[in-house]
Amino acid sequence: LMRKVRQNVRELGRYQPGKPIEEVKRKYQVDNIIKMASNENPLGPSPLVLKLLREGLQGIHQYPDSNCYYLKQALCRFYNLEEENLIIGNGSDEIIDLIMAVLVEPGDEVIYANPSFIKYRLAVQAAGGKSVEIPLRKDFTHDLKKMANAVTRKTRVIFICNPNNPTGTIVGQGEILDFLSQIPTDILVVIDQAYREYVTDPTYCDGLNLIHKYPNLLLLRTFSKIYGLAGLRVGYGIGHPEIIDMLNRVRSPFNVNLLAQKAAIFALQDQNHVLTSRYVNEQGKKYLYQNLDKVGLDYIPTQGNFMLINTGCDAQEIFEKLLMRGIIIRPGNIFGLPTWIRITIGTENANKRFISALIEIL
Ligand code: PMP
Repeated sequence: LMRKVRQNVRELGRYQPGKPIEEVKRKYQVDNIIKMASNENPLGPSPLVLKLLREGLQGIHQYPDSNCYYLKQALCRFYNLEEENLIIGNGSDEIIDLIMAVLVEPGDEVIYANPSFIKYRLAVQAAGGKSVEIPLRKDFTHDLKKMANAVTRKTRVIFICNPNNPTGTIVGQGEILDFLSQIPTDILVVIDQAYREYVTDPTYCDGLNLIHKYPNLLLLRTFSKIYGLAGLRVGYGIGHPEIIDMLNRVRSPFNVNLLAQKAAIFALQDQNHVLTSRYVNEQGKKYLYQNLDKVGLDYIPTQGNFMLINTGCDAQEIFEKLLMRGIIIRPGNIFGLPTWIRITIGTENANKRFISALIEIL
């Protein structure tokens, strides 16, 4: 059987997401663990979601709605869109795989930045495509000129992660417009906006108004980050009806589970929770910037709910020492940045614990 497995699949590395709290408890025998590794909302979801989900539990003997009708209606009202502009996925991760399924054949090229969200590389590799990775500029922002120049006849998809994971940097409206006007319309441009709701920079490109002008543009958003529903897996794509229809043809009929659909609708209703989450993130950022400045550590100002910090030491070592203190973060070696760590901005308490542990370690 192994001989029959595609070579590119055998070559796939094993992706290691942020360690789950339970695993760290088991292996390191520490209690009171905080996870600052996977850019989840430390406040959790809206209390409204938790309250109403209990009622939703009664329906779990039945399959979910294959078309996510009520969730799509809620999103249409929220964004002023038509249902045909929306695809709902089992996390935006699934939509990335669906994009590969409809557009990328072995040998086709996919362009994205490096470092950026690791899922792009894995999805391209699994599809047998060729990743064309364009280094970020020195200031850790996307080099859209180089990305546009990298287009060939084999290019099928371009990912722009905005804000970029793991750097927290953004691409502004002007640059995106320039870029879109240069890219042939038979190449899909995906703007991954998983952290869109955390952005405060007014030059940010929201992109919603662009989907009507550019049929080859797809926006990806998620309920996993500011909406606090990472464990339920629900994300969505916004784009032209033609690409949405193609993606819908290859998805599993019941890709988004019943509780996820209900929770996403309730989460969307509670925009106060979104505001509170954004506020807590801003306060956390301020605290972390101030304290990192105090100890003289370099970091990249972020537009997301996570940030990169240069420890000046072996990040893997720092990662393990923090684990022993019950703090889960991500070492930068996974992004090709061996002295940097990526942390999720936490609650006031978590941020304080992180800073004192870091000072103790360094
Ligand atoms: N895009 C980016 C940039 C991310 O960081 C993540 C989560 N790590 C995702 C997409 C996937 O989010 P989900 O599948 O939970 O919607």
